[in-house]
Amino acid sequence: MLEEMAMQVDKNIVVKKFGGTSVGALERIENVATRVIRDQSRGESPVIVVSAMSGETNRLVRLANDLDPYYRGAAYDMLLASGEQVAVALLTIALEKRGAKAAPLLAHQVGIQTDALFSKARIRSIDTTKISSLVEQNIIPVVAGFQGVTEDDQITTLGRGGSDTTAVALTAALKGSACEIYTDVPAVYSADPRLVAKARELKTVTFEEMMEMASVGSKVLHFRAVEIAAKYNIKIHSRSSFEDRDGTWVMAEENMLENPVVSSVTHDPSTVVIQLNPVPAGAAFLANLFARLAEKNIVVDIITQSASDSPSAHTQRLHFSIPEEDLPQTQKLLQEILKNETEVKVMRDMAKISVIGVGMKNHPGVAARFFKIFKERNVDVHLVTTSDIKISAVVAKSQLKEVAEALHTEFDLDV
Ligand code: ASP
Ligand code: MG
Repeated sequence: MLEEMAMQVDKNIVVKKFGGTSVGALERIENVATRVIRDQSRGESPVIVVSAMSGETNRLVRLANDLDPYYRGAAYDMLLASGEQVAVALLTIALEKRGAKAAPLLAHQVGIQTDALFSKARIRSIDTTKISSLVEQNIIPVVAGFQGVTEDDQITTLGRGGSDTTAVALTAALKGSACEIYTDVPAVYSADPRLVAKARELKTVTFEEMMEMASVGSKVLHFRAVEIAAKYNIKIHSRSSFEDRDGTWVMAEENMLENPVVSSVTHDPSTVVIQLNPVPAGAAFLANLFARLAEKNIVVDIITQSASDSPSAHTQRLHFSIPEEDLPQTQKLLQEILKNETEVKVMRDMAKISVIGVGMKNHPGVAARFFKIFKERNVDVHLVTTSDIKISAVVAKSQLKEVAEALHTEFDLDV
């Protein structure tokens, strides 16, 4: 779909996305402008995508939540999308101040069409006519990330962190082969350096690994961005806007020389575990519960069922985990559908820790090494899930650091 819209442009187009911290203050916006103009003078035709200034989207979320934490819909997306508008305008001013020609563009002006799933909208198509013609005239398009527009002209947003997705989708639409994502860190790390001091920079990561990292809470790249990059084989270069050196390349596995068994230890500190006890045994209850959650766009992560304490054989205990941000909606829904006898226990101070690596596919024994770390430290594992390149466990937040460091050492990732 995306590539069908592309117009062939005879220019060296490079889509560059600048995240919130890169445009977090006027001085930083000025730096970005200087850098973009330098790249242009080196023969690139930059197409810029920006996020809101750092902290701004959170501020807008708080305003909405203070009014009504349950409201989601057109007005919520309109509110959140306003942060990007400010950043686009300021960066355009900074570029023009330096003598460049630039054009500020919101999603409706570039035709970034999405479905109507507010707060989690998906891009359907991008009309590249306007951007291509600006590039032809050496005008730098500065495009608002994170936002889109529905068929009937409502503003939508793509989910938190969604500017990455705008950038990669735009690269695909323009038939580019690489996309630069600028952040405040120089590279993707083998673990979050704030948690694991011995984390190291990764030169390359496969699409598959990056998707797993994004889905288990690494905030490095938006999940959908990596999904689109994999589909259209677009290399993502994740790098710092404060330094002038290569960061991490996210690309197809075939381009890599060798793959470690585990390439990263990733964590998600905002996991909430919900225990329902007792609930009716059998698939009917589960099907209804998870369908209702899905209707609300709540992504349930790990699900386990076990015997309930009650003597009835027709009941069981259910655990599942959700992102913290979906808790109010989930609680409201549970109130609607559960009978009085079911006790709902919300376990908030939980974290998910995962090891990820495409090399796992060819190496047995990874799970044994993983659980040994927990056993040696007497750390309770609440929920577990695996894929062919990932193992995740939910633990108490207070034990996260200890476990993360030990896993990092166990899988030979320490610097
Ligand atoms: N400003 C939006 C957010 O904070 C989108 C983004 O930064 O990618 O989630
Ligand atoms: Mg981001």
